[in-house]
Amino acid sequence: MKSLIHGLFLDELTAVIREMDAPAFRAKQIWHWLYEQRITTWDAMKNLPTELRAKLAERFELTPARALEITGTEDEARKILVGLGDGECVEEVLLPSGDRRTVCVSSQVGCKFACAFCASGQAGYKRNLLAGEIVGEVLLAAAVWGDRPGNIVFMGVGEPFDNYDNVLRAIRILNHPDGLGIGARRITLSTCGVIPGIQRLAEEGLQLELSLSLHAPDTATRGQLMPVNRRYPLADVLAACKAYAEKTKRIITFEYTLVRGVNDSPAQAEDLARLLAPLPARVNLIPLSPVEGFEGEPTPPETARQFIRTLERAGINATLRDSQGSRIKAACGQLRIRRLATT
Ligand code: SF4
Repeated sequence: MKSLIHGLFLDELTAVIREMDAPAFRAKQIWHWLYEQRITTWDAMKNLPTELRAKLAERFELTPARALEITGTEDEARKILVGLGDGECVEEVLLPSGDRRTVCVSSQVGCKFACAFCASGQAGYKRNLLAGEIVGEVLLAAAVWGDRPGNIVFMGVGEPFDNYDNVLRAIRILNHPDGLGIGARRITLSTCGVIPGIQRLAEEGLQLELSLSLHAPDTATRGQLMPVNRRYPLADVLAACKAYAEKTKRIITFEYTLVRGVNDSPAQAEDLARLLAPLPARVNLIPLSPVEGFEGEPTPPETARQFIRTLERAGINATLRDSQGSRIKAACGQLRIRRLATT
C-alpha cells in the first residue's frame, strides 16, 4: 500500500519534496491543493510540473477514504459508510445544526472496549486508523457539505486514546492554519476512560475538548455497562480527569446515557452530582437508542427531566442531548456490522 499524503505534516512534505529535487515552496502549493481546494486527482494540481506530479503519484495515495454509502438527508444527521484502502470500513456522522456543521469521526476499525450499548464494540477490533485516513474522513464530510466542517468530535467507531499517536497527528494536521484550520477548541476527544490517554493529552499543550463516557455514578453499575471499568476503575478515572482539568484549566464533558431502571434513579442523579462537584464539569444526558444485542430500554422522558433537575439543583451544568443526533450516533457501527454480515 502506498503511503497517504494526507498523513504528512507540512514540514515532512517539504522534506519529501526536497528529496524529489524540487524546491521547498512546492510543498505549500501541494498543501493548498490538498486542504483549500481539496482536489481528488494529481492532474488537478495544475501549477505543479508534470514530472513532480508523476513522482508524487508513484509514492503517495491521494484518496485516503471513499464514501461507500450515505444515509439520511441534507437537513438531518447523515451517516457515511467510509471505505478504506485495504477494504476495511468505518462510519462517520455529519450533524448539521443551523450554521454549525459537526462531523463525528471514527478512530479505529472496530473497538476493543465492548461497551454494552454500543454497536461499534460488537463486531470486535480490526486495526487502528492511520492519521491520513482520519483526515480523509473530515475531507469526505467537506465534500458532502461543499465546505469544511466547523467542529470535529471523535465519537465514531473506536477509542481514540487506544490509537493515540495517529489521532493526535490527524488533529495537528486538521488544526494547521495553512490546512483546514479547524480550531483545537472545536475538536472533541471522547474516551471511555483510558487513563494513560487522559494523562498524555494533559501534556500536549492543545486546547482540545475532552469528553468522558461515564454512564454511571458507581463502579458496580459502570462495570456492568462498560467492561473498561475493570482496567480503569471509576475513582482512578475521575482522579485523572481532575488532574487534567487542573493542568489545562478546561471544563470536561461527561456523557451519560440514560437506561431505564439501570442508571436513572433519583439517588443515582444525586450520587452523580456529588461525584462531579469537585470538577469543572458539564453533563450531556443521552437518550438511549435501540442497539441490537443490548436489551436496555430508554428512560421515560419525565424520569429524564427529573434526573436533569436533580443535577441542576446541585449546581451541575447538564443538558439533554438532541435526540436526532444521539439516535444516529448511538447506532454508530451498525452500517459497518450490516456490511460485514453481507460480505
Ligand atoms: S462506546 Fe466507544 S469505547 Fe465503547 S465500545 Fe463503543 S466505540 Fe468502543
